Order: sequence, then C-alpha cells, then structure tokens
Amino acid sequence: MHVPLTTADFCYRARTVHPARLGAVDEPGVPGALGRLTYGELMLRCDGMAAALDRMGIGAGERVAIVSPNAVKLLIALYATTGTGRILVPINFRLTGEEARYIVDDAGASLLLVDAELDERLAAVTAPRRIVLDGEHDAELFAPADAPVEWPALDEDAPATINYTSGTTAAPKGVILTHRSHWLNAAAVGWGFGLAEADRYLHTLPIFHVNGWGLPLACAALGVPQVIQREVRGPEILRRVDAEAITLLCGAAPVAATIEQAAQQLRDVGAPVPGQGRTRMVSGGAPTPAAVIEQFERATGWEMIHAYGLSETGPVLTANRVLPSEGLSPADRARRLAAAGAPLLGVRLHTGPAGEVLARTAKTTDGDWNNPDATAQAFTDDGWFRTGDGGTFDDGVLRITDRKKDVIVTGGENVSSLQVEAVLHQHPDVLDAAIIGVPHERWGETPKALVVLKDGAAFDEPALIAYCREHLAGFQCPTSVERRDTLPRTATGKIQKYLLREPYWR
Ligand code: AMP
Repeated sequence: MHVPLTTADFCYRARTVHPARLGAVDEPGVPGALGRLTYGELMLRCDGMAAALDRMGIGAGERVAIVSPNAVKLLIALYATTGTGRILVPINFRLTGEEARYIVDDAGASLLLVDAELDERLAAVTAPRRIVLDGEHDAELFAPADAPVEWPALDEDAPATINYTSGTTAAPKGVILTHRSHWLNAAAVGWGFGLAEADRYLHTLPIFHVNGWGLPLACAALGVPQVIQREVRGPEILRRVDAEAITLLCGAAPVAATIEQAAQQLRDVGAPVPGQGRTRMVSGGAPTPAAVIEQFERATGWEMIHAYGLSETGPVLTANRVLPSEGLSPADRARRLAAAGAPLLGVRLHTGPAGEVLARTAKTTDGDWNNPDATAQAFTDDGWFRTGDGGTFDDGVLRITDRKKDVIVTGGENVSSLQVEAVLHQHPDVLDAAIIGVPHERWGETPKALVVLKDGAAFDEPALIAYCREHLAGFQCPTSVERRDTLPRTATGKIQKYLLREPYWR
C-alpha cells in the first residue's frame, strides 16, 4: 500500500508522541504573541486555524500568503495550511510593497496574513481576504480548537509551499515544493544536523526562507522546543541561548558574525559566553569563509556546521560536520568546515563540464509557479538539476568555488571571487569583503575588492593588495581596493554583487 509522505506526519507525531513537551516560545512583547505552548496546545491552535480556513471557504490547493518575521503564528500557518492541503506562500518580510504585491498576485493568494508592524508599509498589498496579525483581527484564526480535528488525506505530490526566490536579477519566481519534498528534506536535515530529542532550537533563521530549511517540521517530529527570535541581534541571541538552554540554531554568515562580536564583547570583560561546549550553529545560505568559522568557534566555544543548498532543491543538499572529538586544531577544523560538505541522504552530486555543481534528489522542485519554461531550463537533458554554482566534488566532499555569474574572467583566467574573499577575511583589519570584476582595457575584467574594516583599523590599499599577493597567484589578486561602510546583502545573507558591479559597468 502506498502511504503518502506529507507535512501532516510531523504534526501527527508532535501531538501523539509528545503533547506535553514544550513546543514553541513566542517573542515576548509583540501584540498578540502566543507565549509558551506545549506541542499539544500548538496542535490545537493548528486545528483551530484549519477550522477557521474551512469557515472562510478556503479550500485545498488555495494559496495562503503570509508576510511575517519569525513568530509562532508563522509556524502554526506552516503546519495548519500545508497539513490540511492548502498551499502556504511565505514571503520575505523585508521586501518592498511592490515586490510583495507581485508575489501575492502571482501566487493568486485567497488569503493574505500580514504582521502588524508591516501593515502600514504593505498597505497596498491586498488579496480577496487580508488579515493583520495583531491579536485582534486574527483572534479567530489562531484560537485553539476545543478538541483535535481530523485532517484530510493528502497527495504527497501536491504542492505544500511556494517559496519565491530573492529575484536578484529578474522577477521573483515561485518555487513549488511538494509534501514529499518537505518530508524528505526534514528527515535528511534532521540527520545531517544531528537533531535529537534533547535539542532546543532557536529560530534565528527566517522561517520564510525555504520554510526554515525544514527545521520546523523536524523539530515537531522529535518534540524539540522551538524558541522564536524575531530580530537578529547578537547580545539578545546570547541571552536566549542562556535563558532557554538552546543547543541549535541556523543562519547565514552575517548572523554568525553578529553572534561572534557579542561573544567577544563578553570575553573582553571576562564574562562567560552562554552555550559553550553545548551549542551548534549551522551556517548556510551564503558562503562562510574559513576565517569567519575559526573566529566564530573561538569566540563562542560553539560547534559550527556548514550547509549548502538552494530553494529549488528543497533546500539543503549538503552538510559538513567535523566532530570536536576528532581533535583537529582550530585552523584545521575551520579549513575542513569551509567546504559545503557531504551530500545528505537522498542527494547525488557531480560537476558538469564547465565545473557547474549538478544535483539529483527526489526533493528538487518539479516546477515554478506560472513559469514552466524556467523549470525545463533548470535541468540537464539527463535529468540533473543545474545549481548555477561552480564547485568541485571529490572524495564525497563538495566545495563551492563561486556562483557561475560571479566568476571573474581576467585575461582568459577564471578567478573565484570566494577564494579571494576568503583570503581577505583572514586579514586582521578586514570585517567583510566582496570581490567583483570591473572592466579592464587589456584583461577584459579585473578583480576589485570592496572591504569593510574593523573598528579602529586604518585603510591601506597597497598593504591589502600585498597581503593577497602573499596568498594567491598574481592574476587572482585585486588590482584595486575600495573601502565601504557596509556591503549590501539579501535577507538570507548573500552579498548583492550585481549592485556592487553596476556602477563600474554602466
Ligand atoms: P537560495 O535559493 O536563495 O537559498 O540561494 C541559493 C544559492 O545560495 C546557491 O545557489 C548558492 O549560490 C548560495 N549558497 C547557499 N549556501 C551556500 C554555501 N554554504 N556556500 C556558498 N554558497 C551558498
């Protein structure tokens, strides 16, 4: 008998196996926040939401869009809409009104849920029904049911979510992820990150970003308490890690950097850093250079795990864990951890002729919403998904060398911007760095460095170039360096290189 794999399986396990365990802790002080809920209580709220959607006449296959920073209501929406056959469209809460409206319209959402703080900015974003998450207008939607409600049977190949990608160069595209994709991803991620019943998870990673990489489902299955972190601020994250005995969190390299700075400040005054020897942080979604990993582990005393993936692949493809018991030096650990790592269960990898990373996994999207052509182009003729990233896959370990469109071709030689950035990150004065190709009369293009310096450091262009020359071949070295106060990044931590390149190519 073929029993479908669906997101409802994770909810079933949460409510049946550990209803009395702490399920979710909401951000305090937010109007309408839900406080501390056991998994039993959380699931009754999901039943309540399912019943409310029934009453509104929102049926299976209809889209429910939500724009919200991390919140327990976003978790409930993920469980209750997908688990009952509706499709959730989680939207990046940092988008402009125009961008959010494009997504809501493209998805054809019947219902739009908007965080109270975003209501004004997104006033022009509408749908047939629009509810503000302020504790008043959404009271009925998030009221708990009196008793558990039976959820309908679902098809594992039906869409569960549509996740719109950042759309750095074109209109955002809606990546359809099915129930089967969610299921396989959550199980594989749970293993890859070593998730276990005794963990306590902090939601620093935005849940809208590819559904929190599957952690909301994996945590529910194992009864792992989920603590909401609404804003990413280093000192506050450390306070939660302490107060809630957190053992696991995820984020991109900039999140790691803010935690590292806060931890270093504690060390500077001789105060203990919470979570030492206990907490793991998964860094992914954007490159994390070895120097950042080493500084992070040194300052926090936590273990870093590296992960790599794309929205289209559900998302996580690889995880890199180097057990502290292996006893490597901090620098050797960081060097190993800078690789994207080993394919998760159910993921096959290889590199194509041009060095592009190709992936085959049952959790890769079947298509883009309203855009079947884009999907066809994403696969090779023999069915491998093109990641658009350059890399190597040797001895079971994937290394990302660069996004294909960020590779710099100078005098016929390819320069990996990530490799040069990794060297600059090792320099004691450099806080952040981006390498871009700028036009050059003789070489076509040439590498240019844009750097953010640490507080108190003096800018010395020749010294930074000389430092690169010590560690890289001549053609790889930046021929010019500019100082910046910050580098533009997406909500998921990627440096927006097209913005940096644009003024030089105009
Ligand atoms: P998204 O679909 O928005 O999550 O973006 C996926 C892209 O992020 C990938 O194609 C990579 O270019 C980049 N990315 C994600 N994780 C990593 C990583 N660990 N190292 C380098 N690049 C990454």
